[in-house]
Amino acid sequence: MYICIDFGGTNIRGALIDKNAKIHLRHRVKTEAFHGFDKVCDNLFELIDKLSQNVKLKAIGIGFPGTVSTDSVIVTAPNLGWNNVNLSKILKNKYNVEIKIDNDVNMAIRGENWIGAGKNYKNLFMLTVGTGVGGAFILNNTMFGGTDNNAGEIGHINVEKDGILCACGRKGCLEQYASASAMVNFVKEKLLNGEKSIIESNNYQHIEAKEIFDNARKGDKLCIQAVDRMCYYLSVGISSVVNLINPQCIIIGGGVSHAGLYFLERIKYYSEILCLDYSYKNLDIKLAKLGDEAGIFGCAYSFIE
Ligand SMILES: [Zn+2]
Repeated sequence: MYICIDFGGTNIRGALIDKNAKIHLRHRVKTEAFHGFDKVCDNLFELIDKLSQNVKLKAIGIGFPGTVSTDSVIVTAPNLGWNNVNLSKILKNKYNVEIKIDNDVNMAIRGENWIGAGKNYKNLFMLTVGTGVGGAFILNNTMFGGTDNNAGEIGHINVEKDGILCACGRKGCLEQYASASAMVNFVKEKLLNGEKSIIESNNYQHIEAKEIFDNARKGDKLCIQAVDRMCYYLSVGISSVVNLINPQCIIIGGGVSHAGLYFLERIKYYSEILCLDYSYKNLDIKLAKLGDEAGIFGCAYSFIE
């Protein structure tokens, strides 16, 4: 049995999973990072203790929102304000089982590869599109992390010279144009400049990506423009990956993937234009299947793959 954990900024969700991808027990605790590192650890221990009662535990896996080194050290986690934290060692000392901590997108692609949209593919790339844009590779059935386990950072491909300032400190990164937040900001700015939209009559300070997708489907010009712009920039990222590594499958996950077929069709439209014909010919572009469970399953698969 494996304890598999999705470590979020608000909640830490865990599940007890066997090697056949069956979930036996679930539990969640609050992260409470604002109470400091020790409190977060106490919450995490509570979760693990609850899940590991009366079972023979083999390993603990954690998908983490940040940069994690090849040996499971948390290098940086901006949402939590953590730098160089060896959580893996703390857990190893306490539970004495195998510990694997990896970036949350790296865990998510493993999950999709095991039992989700990426099943039966040996070369795949996953993008997660939400507040930011993340990415991860599996090449020849193996997780590819690059030299420092930091490969796949598609959100920070430069797409505009002197463009919008990114949280990474650079300007013109893809995620400033292709994330859900970027799309919302684009619409807000246009409305402030007097553009007309169905959304205008509402309180546009509280616009969400879902509302933009819904109104684009209804034919609202500004919302169509916003979705189109996002899909174009995502396709710039996708075509960069496709032209570089020629994968069999691109999986799109994260909150925005719930926008469904309308979104997927626009991505395919632009990707076909931007990808090399020969690489696009056998490429499948799919929406993720496992939602926010992908990382949990990926943790289990990281001990099996
Ligand atoms: Zn950036």
